[in-house]
Amino acid sequence: MEGAEIQKGFADFSGPVKRKILKKISKPCKILIMSHKYPDGDAVGSALGLARVMELAGHEVKVCFPDEAPDFIKWLPGYKNALIFEKAAKSFPGFTQDPDIVFFVDFNTPERLGAAADMINSLKGLKILVDHHPGSDPFFDLALIDTSRGSTAELLVLMLENLGLASEIDQDAALCFYTGIITDTLGLQVNSSYPGIYRVVGLLIEKGADIQKVYSNVYHQFSAGRMKLLGYCLAEKMKLLPEYGAAYIWITKDELARFNHIKGDTEGFVNYPLSIKDIRFSVLFTELPDEIKLSLRSTGNIPVNEFAAKYFNGGGHLNAAGGRSTESMQETIDRFDPLVKSFMAKYL
Ligand code: 5GP
Ligand code: MN
Repeated sequence: MEGAEIQKGFADFSGPVKRKILKKISKPCKILIMSHKYPDGDAVGSALGLARVMELAGHEVKVCFPDEAPDFIKWLPGYKNALIFEKAAKSFPGFTQDPDIVFFVDFNTPERLGAAADMINSLKGLKILVDHHPGSDPFFDLALIDTSRGSTAELLVLMLENLGLASEIDQDAALCFYTGIITDTLGLQVNSSYPGIYRVVGLLIEKGADIQKVYSNVYHQFSAGRMKLLGYCLAEKMKLLPEYGAAYIWITKDELARFNHIKGDTEGFVNYPLSIKDIRFSVLFTELPDEIKLSLRSTGNIPVNEFAAKYFNGGGHLNAAGGRSTESMQETIDRFDPLVKSFMAKYL
């Protein structure tokens, strides 16, 4: 968008981005909050946490996700009131057609909204992006971007503190933000080696975030089918390329059906190969109805976001990225194999 203003980090969060947000929210607003397709814990936790705080601050708020979140995220307070774009007959009821502010959280290109991307241009109101991914299309008016943060949820807590709204973070909002932080950092294992994240976690616990509830709902609610599918993938569908430090798992639609797959069941599968000695690049190929989804993970300095952007129409972070292919599974893997070998040759 022409004249988009971007605030990077909080070292000096006093410029026009902060001023314009403060001015806009100084009176009751209609706020629409949107996040990305295949919404994960950070997407949902961020959107619902922000929604809760803005509601408590006196605004009218609607949250919209392009499609449903997996069950291990749907229990978050406020989810059942969110609009699911693909179910809403591709139309927005009520004021969502005419919001004063639109917050986009946890993504950086309109394509990540899926079919909902088409309506961005017709949306009125001040468009504000809050995100922790590197690079972004300027499809917004204002942006607050901090790639040093492990999650957008953490970034939002810092933003709310800076806007003087920390007092509005209640127990439900704290639970949402805490879930975003935990799911995007693999439980504070990755992208979390800085003291500030623990201060924010401390604040959320102070506000009443129920940590046991998060662990129990996010990590201990798997179906038997999911566990069996995981066992099958590791035993039968994991290909190791040890001389290149890489591994991949591929799952077809038939296999998903065989194990009674429900959305979210394959979440986390991509991380398993990384616990094998010397494997530093892992990819999960999942066959969806209309495309092959790639989830990519790495350790150290291997930029899976560059690989995903260059070859698989995707992007993300240095160590966690996503992409897609419209070829068949076999064609996708045949194309991937030489690419990963030449890519990893640089890092051996
Ligand atoms: P996941 O593998 O969990 O779907 O995604 C891993 C990371 O990559 C997340 O941070 C997600 O936001 C990002 N990501 C996933 N798919 C895409 C994509 O198609 N484009 C971009 N730019 N980022 C993606
Ligand atoms: Mn995120």
